Amino acid sequence: MEFENWWLLSFPLFFLLGWLAAKIDVKQIVNETREIPSTYIEGLNFLLNEEKDKAIEVLVKLSLAEPDSVELQFAVGGLFRDKGEMQRALTVHQGLLDKPDLTSVERNRAVLAVGQDFFKSGMYDRAEEFLKRVGGKEYVSEALSLLIDLYVNQNDWIQAIEVARKLQATTGESKRVEVAHFMVEIALSYKEKEDYNQAQDWLYKAIDENPIAPRPRVVLGDLLKVQGRYHEAVHEWVKLEEYASDYLGLIVGSLIECHDRLGTRKQCLEKLKEIIKVVPNHDLLEATFNLSFELEGHEASRELARQFLRKTSNITWAVPILELIKNDSSESYLDDVNLLIQVTKYHAQDAGHVCGNCGFHAQAHYWRCPACRLLDTYVPSSFQVGVNA
Ligand SMILES: [Zn+2]
Repeated sequence: MEFENWWLLSFPLFFLLGWLAAKIDVKQIVNETREIPSTYIEGLNFLLNEEKDKAIEVLVKLSLAEPDSVELQFAVGGLFRDKGEMQRALTVHQGLLDKPDLTSVERNRAVLAVGQDFFKSGMYDRAEEFLKRVGGKEYVSEALSLLIDLYVNQNDWIQAIEVARKLQATTGESKRVEVAHFMVEIALSYKEKEDYNQAQDWLYKAIDENPIAPRPRVVLGDLLKVQGRYHEAVHEWVKLEEYASDYLGLIVGSLIECHDRLGTRKQCLEKLKEIIKVVPNHDLLEATFNLSFELEGHEASRELARQFLRKTSNITWAVPILELIKNDSSESYLDDVNLLIQVTKYHAQDAGHVCGNCGFHAQAHYWRCPACRLLDTYVPSSFQVGVNA
């Protein structure tokens, strides 16, 4: 604990000052120094019990008694920020910046803390100003990470890319996944303005940045489809099969639509049947089943449902089979079959999309988890499919 040092140092100091005993009440001072660790432990206990209000109360009392303790000021400021008391957090952290005797490491830490306070207050201009000022090696990567979040929050993707590259150079840790996503965002803004050439350029840049990223390819296909370039759209999407086949589930509806326009639905069905042999993604299976039903009729699609049920143990695939049993059942079994269909449908309810990192449930697929904010953590299927075969 960084805290411990300052009060431990106070013991030899008081002994050295012993000669002042005649003028100063040594007994009182010793009592006070003994109180500090116990108060500190009390504060720590409150923190451990997540009783932040009481912890702040104790630490504020301590920091008033020890105004020169930089660590204490950081602790109090941090607690105020955690509690959302931003004005008080800022007062404490800006107070630290006013101290003339801070080391350069402490000064950078205080500049970062003020930047964090402004960021949390939503005052992005001020936050940006302070985060850009953080120097030294100790806190710069934290400042750059927050600066990226700040630009992301403001949809300033160009600056987000610039800072991500700087962070990559500083830490050596790859930021290509993030940069590729930011480039897709730029492409999407051009797509919205119907500037398809610029949009396409940025998508190719994103693919260059991170060749195994699914999103640039997904969006590139969409962009080509919007322009009526169906053949090229299919060509791009099918490439996902090589490195991100699960994501085909996201575009399967659009893929079929393109084949529809090209008059190649039959070919599409054959391709999908091939793909689902290795990719048991629920959305793909469902689309293949529906297309088979439409083009090949009851018998063929029922056979597919049987295959899927064996392969994925996903109870959804019992429903089409039960529907067919229902058609062939005599009156006396109809109620039972209907009940089975009802119960099966209930248990086959869409589980939604689940973040692979934090487990956050969502009804739609997200490229960035709304809860933990990590990228590419959502399984691109509305069902978690367990493969048996
Ligand atoms: Zn998450």
